[in-house]
Amino acid sequence: MAMADLSQLSINQATTRAQWTLREAAEGYARAGVPGIAVWRDKLAECGVGEAARILAGEGLTVTGLCRGGMFPAADPTGLRAAIDDNRHAVDEAVAIGAQCLVLVVGGLPAGSKDIAAAREMVRDGIGELLPHARAAVMPLAIEPLHPMYAADRACVNTLAQANDLCDALGEGLGIAVDVYHVWWDPDLEREIRRAGDAARDGHKRILAFHICDWLVPTTDLLLDRGMMGDGVIDLPKIRRWVEAAGYEGLHEVEIFSAENWWKRDPDEVVRVCIERHHSCC
Ligand code: ZN
Repeated sequence: MAMADLSQLSINQATTRAQWTLREAAEGYARAGVPGIAVWRDKLAECGVGEAARILAGEGLTVTGLCRGGMFPAADPTGLRAAIDDNRHAVDEAVAIGAQCLVLVVGGLPAGSKDIAAAREMVRDGIGELLPHARAAVMPLAIEPLHPMYAADRACVNTLAQANDLCDALGEGLGIAVDVYHVWWDPDLEREIRRAGDAARDGHKRILAFHICDWLVPTTDLLLDRGMMGDGVIDLPKIRRWVEAAGYEGLHEVEIFSAENWWKRDPDEVVRVCIERHHSCC
């Protein structure tokens, strides 16, 4: 089993979102020796962007991502326009806190629609419209393919192949967040991770983030029942080897939405278990 050392660990603040504010999370992770954090925009808004930037820099944390931009599809032009504006704002926030990427959860079907192909076109066009602003700001956009159970309401990009196709079509400034929870089941996963690695050029890597947790059996809630690494069925060392073979050298970001378990525990204990499991199971 590969030994992971603490220097490669980041914790997505969703993992302690029920317990900790942004300041508390930054201080708590740093106190435990965790070098990275990923930030959520609602927590960022609550803290204030300037104050958050000071806290994160003060704790010396690497910000592995800002969650999240995206949600492009809309029922009408006003909605499409609002989504682009909000994404431009998210890019600026990501720059302000020194995030390594802005994570895109691309959105699902607009209200009243059954046309998933049209939603996917809106996603492609929306990212295309956002990219010039992101490139000018030097903020990479990371498409996060989501498990197909979220295709209707969260993301109609559901496989790494789809994300790779979008990156091929739209070009520089766009990459992928590989979240094991969403892609572990995919028979093409190894091949598409390799494809993402092969697409790196001019120092620009396509795999921009690596999110870890586990898939519990049974899963009791579609959104809020993710498992701690080691408690489920995902072969984490194998997927880690694939992303590293594809050239990924960034941190491993623990992202656990867990309303009935981890969100009810002492957050310092949650962080301690993240560290232990990252060592023993990843
Ligand atoms: Zn994720």
